[in-house]
Parts: sequence; C-alpha cells; structure tokens
Amino acid sequence: MTYGSGPTAVEAIRDVSFSIRPGEFVCIVGPSGCGKTTLLKSIAGLLRPTHGTALIQGRVVDGPPEQLALVFQEYTRSLLPWLTVRRNVELPLKARREKRDECASRTVDALHAVGLSGFEDKYPWQLSGGMQQRAAIARAIAYRPAVLLMDEPFASVDAQTRADLEDLLLRVQQETGVTVVFVTHDIDEAVYLGHRVIVLSGRPTVVRETVDVPMGWPRDQVATKADPRFVELRTHVLRQIHRERTEHPPQTH
Ligand code: ADP
Ligand code: MG
Repeated sequence: MTYGSGPTAVEAIRDVSFSIRPGEFVCIVGPSGCGKTTLLKSIAGLLRPTHGTALIQGRVVDGPPEQLALVFQEYTRSLLPWLTVRRNVELPLKARREKRDECASRTVDALHAVGLSGFEDKYPWQLSGGMQQRAAIARAIAYRPAVLLMDEPFASVDAQTRADLEDLLLRVQQETGVTVVFVTHDIDEAVYLGHRVIVLSGRPTVVRETVDVPMGWPRDQVATKADPRFVELRTHVLRQIHRERTEHPPQTH
C-alpha cells in the first residue's frame, strides 16, 4: 500500500501476506508507523490497497463486509455523539434488521459485559475515554461478527481496565469462536492474547516473523504471564522489534 504518488509518496506496506483460520486469535505487532492501521483498513474494505487483495471466506474484499466489525484506534471518533450509548450499540444491529427484542437484549448483555450497565442513556461525550472505548467494544461484541478487527483498542485505558478488557475479549472469543485480528504495539499483550503473533518490520513493511503461542486456555493474567514459555516468547518478540529499530531506524518523510 502506497499513499500518494511522486516524490511525496509514502510506501506504508511493501509485502505482507498471511492467512488466518476461522476461530483463530491473531495478534499483529510492529513499530509505530509501520502500517498496522493501514493493514486493518485494507482488510476491512475501507481502503483499497495499491496492489494485492484481502480475502474473507474466500471472497475478495471490495467494501466493508457485513460479517466483519472493526474497533478503531481513535475511540473519540468511533461513536456517534448525537446518539446515546444504547443507540450507538444498537445501530449496526438495526441496520442488519435484527428483531427489536434481540437488539435490546444483546445491547444489555454487551454493555453489561464491558461494565457499562447504568450508562445506557448517556451520550459518548459524557463518558471518559476508557468508557467510550468500552462502548465501542460493546457495539462490536453485540454485532456478533464472524471476524473482529481491533486496532490498539486498549491503548488508552488504565492498566487494570486493560487487563479486565483483555480477559473479557478472551472470554468472548472462547464463547463465540469469533476470528480476531488484534493490532497492538504491546508485546506482552500480543503474546498473552494470541494463538499466534505476526511481527511486522518497520517501513517498508514486511512480515518479519510469525510466532506460535503454544500456551493453553484459559489464560490468566498472573499465572500465564509468570509461565516460563510466556517469558521466553515475549523476550523473543521484544528482541525482534528491538533489532528492527536498530537495524532499520524509522524513516522520516
Ligand atoms: P501504524 O498504525 O502502524 O502506526 P499507519 O498504518 O497509521 O501505521 O501508517 C503507516 C504509514 O503510512 C505512516 O508513515 C503514515 O504516516 C502513513 N499514512 C497513513 N495514513 C496515511 C494517509 N491517509 N495519507 C498518507 N500517508 C498515510
Ligand atoms: Mg495505527
């Protein structure tokens, strides 16, 4: 994916290719500016790549697929400010013409799961940043997509909320079997959450390595992170990213 053309062109992604099995939880890590958001937008059909294609269930993505939900990095811009939290969560369900009762009960369940019961009638701007992001996550969960794309969804919440949301997401993934593609620059988070971690290089971006995480489920914030296999894997990935930064320092443009 190259943005623009001529001398000001930015080659965001050079050659990134991988496939993901249904029900898999894949984390993508890479240095800031390497094209993680660009990659997710291409998969989501929000951006047409310069070359290459994304396929979901064998079909080329040429616009936002119905079975997919995306949780954006910029939570302050992902909820509609003129709708209450409840209406925001219900919106995609109504667009898909779910029955009214079904919309209501899924919305209640999803808001409960993210700890926002009691805030249904608030507007997004009446909530803290972390709460807005939880509402955006509730909207994605309530929709029950086949594929859930998440762009650094927990980057702006405090550490405890973050751990809670990670475990919530793992629980939802186990219960629903949703395929998750989760972008983060937090290596511990990637190893903790994923079946597999895809490590991207700095720009021009390629896949540096794919790391299988052989630890079982359910995962546990304390026990998993103390497991020698976890420590070994996170150190391995950290070393990769570190080498990436020293051998390929960030380009300016
Ligand atoms: P990441 O999410 O990994 O931080 P991005 O996908 O946001 O990276 O951006 C990758 C590169 O493409 C960056 O150098 C960024 O400045 C550039 N870029 C992103 N969006 C645009 C755009 N709309 N126009 C031009 N350049 C862009
Ligand atoms: Mg990004």
